[in-house]
Amino acid sequence: NRQSGPPRNVSARVAPLGSRLVLALVEDRTRERRVEAVRRDFVANVSHELKTPVGAIKLLAEAVQDASEDPEAVHRFANRMLTESDRLAHLVQQVIELSRLQGDEPLESPEPVELDEVTTVAVDTSAMDAGAKDIKVLVEGQPGITVLGNEEQVTAAVANLVANAVHYSEPGSKVLVTTRIVDGYVEISVVDQGIGIPKDEIDRIFERFYRVDPARHRSTGGTGLGLSIVKHVAATHGGDVRVWSVEGQGSTFTLTLPHHAAYDEELSMLPVAE
Ligand code: ADP
Repeated sequence: NRQSGPPRNVSARVAPLGSRLVLALVEDRTRERRVEAVRRDFVANVSHELKTPVGAIKLLAEAVQDASEDPEAVHRFANRMLTESDRLAHLVQQVIELSRLQGDEPLESPEPVELDEVTTVAVDTSAMDAGAKDIKVLVEGQPGITVLGNEEQVTAAVANLVANAVHYSEPGSKVLVTTRIVDGYVEISVVDQGIGIPKDEIDRIFERFYRVDPARHRSTGGTGLGLSIVKHVAATHGGDVRVWSVEGQGSTFTLTLPHHAAYDEELSMLPVAE
């Protein structure tokens, strides 16, 4: 490939400004190649992950055909097909979200996003799972905070954090979502009293498809993509996401996003209806 690699003896032939330019070009190409490698890995992983539920649905459909005389077995297989197709739909949804965020490019036109709306939708999304486990999800914090960003992305990120908190918690426990303003940024924390994350795994949980020992929570059927979506949303917003966790005691994930201070003020200056 003639395009790859820098020209030889570059530094001897070009002026300092030129060499900086060449360096930038080389860095650009290295980045391009890295992005391409990540993309290839991602496609391979997605194909692999899609095969599991698709294969299961096919086997179950065959089992239904064979069991047509036994209504109870048909019912059981059909239920499992539903579970597998939900898993497939969830995976496809997350892959779509992630592919939209691939480049970590800063948002082109950030808009005011009302955090109260975001937390309400995020909590509603997990309401069924939380209800089934008798987990209470509480939201605390100053009302009326506005973030500068993309509503769909921010909602997806917070919803993923809340869903994880519910997934990895024991029945009957509590999940707390708090919001506060710190130095021009908004911190959204999701605190759970769940199983926690082992110290030596904590650096890896934001990687795509990474799951801490899938055997410890087989029944939750996660994809390993949720936290990488959160990480990319933080990156496109110029924010970050951090985690504190003690195994067996619980975890706190804190997502930091830019605060849209001017908008909060505008809102608070609106005349109050009589
Ligand atoms: P998954 O679909 O497996 O939940 P994520 O990317 O959302 O994928 O999370 C990656 C892994 O990090 C999970 O498999 C789980 O082991 C761990 N994890 C994420 N959130 C929590 C949490 N609140 N408590 C304990 N472990 C968590």
